Amino acid sequence: MSATAPTHADVVVIGGGVIGLATAYTLARSGAGQVVLLDQGSFGSGSTCKAAGGVRAQFSDETNIIMGHYGLEVFERFGHLFDQEIDLRQNGYLFLLDDPTDVADFERSVALQQSLGVDTRMIAAAEAQRLAPIISTEGVLAAAYGPRDGHCTPESVVLGYARAARRAGATLIPNCRVTGGEVTDGTIRAVHTDAGRIQTQTVVCCAGAWSRTVGEWFGVDLPVDPVRRQIIVTEPIPGLDQSMPMTIDFSTTFYFHEEGPGLLIGMSDPDETVGFKLNRGDEWLPGLIGAAEHRVPSLADVGIASGWAGLYEVTPDHNGLIGEAPGVSRFLYATGFSGHGFLLGPAMGEVMSSLVRGEAPFVDVSAFDARRFEQAQLHREKHIV
Ligand SMILES: Cc1cc2nc3c(=O)[nH]c(=O)nc-3n(C[C@H](O)[C@H](O)[C@H](O)COP(=O)(O)OP(=O)(O)OC[C@H]3O[C@@H](n4cnc5c(N)ncnc54)[C@H](O)[C@@H]3O)c2cc1C
Repeated sequence: MSATAPTHADVVVIGGGVIGLATAYTLARSGAGQVVLLDQGSFGSGSTCKAAGGVRAQFSDETNIIMGHYGLEVFERFGHLFDQEIDLRQNGYLFLLDDPTDVADFERSVALQQSLGVDTRMIAAAEAQRLAPIISTEGVLAAAYGPRDGHCTPESVVLGYARAARRAGATLIPNCRVTGGEVTDGTIRAVHTDAGRIQTQTVVCCAGAWSRTVGEWFGVDLPVDPVRRQIIVTEPIPGLDQSMPMTIDFSTTFYFHEEGPGLLIGMSDPDETVGFKLNRGDEWLPGLIGAAEHRVPSLADVGIASGWAGLYEVTPDHNGLIGEAPGVSRFLYATGFSGHGFLLGPAMGEVMSSLVRGEAPFVDVSAFDARRFEQAQLHREKHIV
C-alpha cells in the first residue's frame, strides 16, 4: 500500500505506463491544476516495460502514421528534452511480405506515409537481404522499409517521463490501486483507492489491459481484452550484424531485433486465449521455432538466454480507444493500443492533455472514439503483429 494519497485532485490519471506518464507530464506542464497519477504497481510494470521497444511510423491508418511519426521525433530528442538516455537505435523497420495481398496493402500504406512526409519505401527481396543478412528471402515478394524507425528501452522512457512529470508538479503514486469510482447524477465525484478517497471530477483512464474494469466503475464500455504475448532473448550470436533493422516476417508475425550480443525475438500465438496470464509457456514454441528457422535458418543453432511474457491490450479492431465518454462528466480514456502503444506514448501525452483542457488535439482522433463499436464502425489498423 502507498504511504499517502492526496484527498483532492483536479485530474486523476489511472495507470502509470507510458501513456499515463506522458499524459500526466503534459497535463502538469500545461497548468491543468493538481494532477495525480496512480498505479497499482511500479511505473511501467504493466505492459510498457514488457514491450520490445519498437518505434515506427509505418502504419496503414493515417492517424497512427502521424502519431507514430510524432513519437519518433520525440524519441530522437528524448535525451535533450528529458535528460534521460533511452538507447534509441534507428536501424529501421523491415516488413517482409510473401503474400500479394499484403504487398498491395503495404504499397498503399507506403504511398500514404510518403504523402504525410514519412520516409518509407517498398524494396525488393535482395535489398531486404542486404539490410538483414541473416534472413532467407525464400518466398519474399517485396518488403516495406522505414529507415528512421527503430527501437529503444521502455524502462528509460518510463523513467524520463516520470521524473519530468514530477518536476512539472504532478503527484505520482506507485503501489496504489484504484478500487472504484464515485458518480452521482452523471458527474464523477471521486476515485476510491486502497490509500483512501480522492475527490475529483476528471478521470483519465490509462489502465492498459485493465481498462475494461476501470471503465465499468464509471459506466463506460471500454472493450479491451488482455492477451498474453511472449518474448525470447537468444544467447550471444558471434559476428551478429548490429545494424540490422527490426525485421518482421509479416505473414507469420515472427520478428526480431538485435539485443546486445543476441537477438530479441517474438511472435503472436494464434491459439492464445484472453486472460491475465503472465507466466511463460511452451505452447507457442513449436510455431515460433518453425517460423524462425524458415526465415532465419541459422537460429537453429542458437540457444535461449532469457524471456518474458506480457499483455497486449486488444480491442476488436486492433486500434486504440481515445476520447471522452459522453454519459459521465468527465471520463477520458487512452487505451487499447493492441501492441503498438509504447511508440504512441509521446503523441498520446499531447492528445490527452488537449482533450482534458477542452482543446482540439494536434491530430484528429475522433475515429478512435470507443462508441465506434456500438455502431459496428471498426477502424482497423492492418500493420499490427
Ligand atoms: C511482448 C510485448 C511486446 C510489445 N512490443 C511493442 C513494441 O515493440 N512497440 C510498441 O509500441 N508497443 C509494444 N507493445 C505494446 C505496449 O507495451 C503497450 O501498447 C503499451 O505499453 C501500453 O501502454 P499503457 O500505458 O497504455 O499500458 P500499461 O503499460 O499496461 O500501463 C497501464 C498501467 O495501469 C495500471 N493499472 C491498471 N489497473 C489499475 C488500477 N485499478 N489502479 C491503479 N493502476 C492500475 C497497471 O499497473 C499498469 O502499469 C508490446 C507489448 C508486449 C506485451
